[in-house]
Amino acid sequence: MDPTQTTLIDLRDAIAAKTISAADATRAYLDRIDKHNGALNSYREVIGEYALKRAAQVDTGEVTGRLAGVPIAIKDCMCHAEGTTACSSKMLENYRSPFTATAVQRLEDEGAVVLGKTNMDEFAMGSSTENSAFGVTKNPWDTARVPGGSSGGASCAMAADLAAATLGSDTGGSIRQPASITGVVGFKPTYGRVSRWGLVAFASSLDQIGTFSHTVADAALLSQVMFGKDKLDSTSADVAVPDGLHDVDGAIETDGQLRIGIAKQYLQDGANTPAVTAAFEQALDIYKSQGAEIVEVDLPHTAYGIPCYYIVATAECSSNLARYDGVHYGHRTSEPAPAGENAIQHLMCQSRAEGFGAEVKRRIVLGTYALSSGYDEKYYDLALRTRRLIAGDFDTAFKQCDAILCPTTTGPAFRIGEMADDPLEMYMNDIYTVTANLAGIPGISLPGGFDEIDGKKLPVGVQLLGKAFDEARLLRIARLYERETDHWQQRPMVH
Ligand code: GLN
Repeated sequence: MDPTQTTLIDLRDAIAAKTISAADATRAYLDRIDKHNGALNSYREVIGEYALKRAAQVDTGEVTGRLAGVPIAIKDCMCHAEGTTACSSKMLENYRSPFTATAVQRLEDEGAVVLGKTNMDEFAMGSSTENSAFGVTKNPWDTARVPGGSSGGASCAMAADLAAATLGSDTGGSIRQPASITGVVGFKPTYGRVSRWGLVAFASSLDQIGTFSHTVADAALLSQVMFGKDKLDSTSADVAVPDGLHDVDGAIETDGQLRIGIAKQYLQDGANTPAVTAAFEQALDIYKSQGAEIVEVDLPHTAYGIPCYYIVATAECSSNLARYDGVHYGHRTSEPAPAGENAIQHLMCQSRAEGFGAEVKRRIVLGTYALSSGYDEKYYDLALRTRRLIAGDFDTAFKQCDAILCPTTTGPAFRIGEMADDPLEMYMNDIYTVTANLAGIPGISLPGGFDEIDGKKLPVGVQLLGKAFDEARLLRIARLYERETDHWQQRPMVH
């Protein structure tokens, strides 16, 4: 058995049955990383020795659990007591966390083996991984293209089989967008489902940890382990996690017939490429053939999603990133203050000027402006009121349907550099994903098939959105689709 060419659950079972040892599985992944990471730049840091030590503990029976021996990777914004947590920023380069994030800890407590930290847009701001201080990550389907972002290292690692599953964070689409354009499953749970303790904050009211995997069942198992109240995060929800969450083939609870919602706001003429439309229509046909009723729902405030998100997210980021001043946290300049200048002010300004990249600075400036006296009503308060309207759209829609089916992105992966000079166009990448974060609801992107450009197959995704805390149903509805397709089984050729 090649442990790198399977699913997380199958590998877990093979390790449990001793068909393969955890050490051999870990070594196989580390070899594969060694071979391909140079070209793909998926991992920002590999912690191979640590991983092998953990795997050995699984093989001796010292470490057991529902994920015993399964090699995974985590996004570089999740604190881990081993190695560094850099958020792919010069600001936190060499930062060593004294503790491990709750979500990661829960996976490790069930025996998962962490291989390393995956590259990302600096502080999770971006849609392409081009904003990393450690170089861009490549899309394994076409290395001239981006893997999406901000969790692009994690989506790349998943698509190229450099881990059996990876963790990402999704503030406005950073799991679902990269998943869709690298051909893997990307799952963002309800806000508050997974503890944010140890997740470096970008926009605290939107940030949510979730998973990349090849299958819905793998996402469900990881969720079953990670979900649930954590006393270290007061915003984690005290809502019971159903025992059967991992059972994605179970019966779907409905009031009679399964109802799939579609919204015209996601299907405007000319907005989506033909491959995205085809993927959406195929998914629709699959649900129809399974006996689902298709209902039209209205999400009238969708168009305000991007402006609303970019006010709320930047406002929160300007406040969250204030701690990186070279004193409390982060890079400290070695440049002395010029004569006559306030030394402390110089230290902080210069440290921030050197430590942050251009996009992070842009966001801090935008957010500070949106919160500044005299403008807060015009921007921030208005954005909060808009956010409520967007959430209200979903409340109404979920009275009419069990899940909403829509594209994840308007097209396949774009070329590296293609949008680098146009931040607004880059922000538009999130048009179908930000509203779920604003409303706090769960969303999942599923492999939906392929576009073909320049002789290269490029994945596109389909997205399902569900009711808050109703992940069990959402995952089962997702599985219904997955069962009827083989897109998820396709793998890129990596050289
Ligand atoms: N692309 C979005 C942004 O740049 C979303 C990022 C995210 O979800 N972390 O803010």
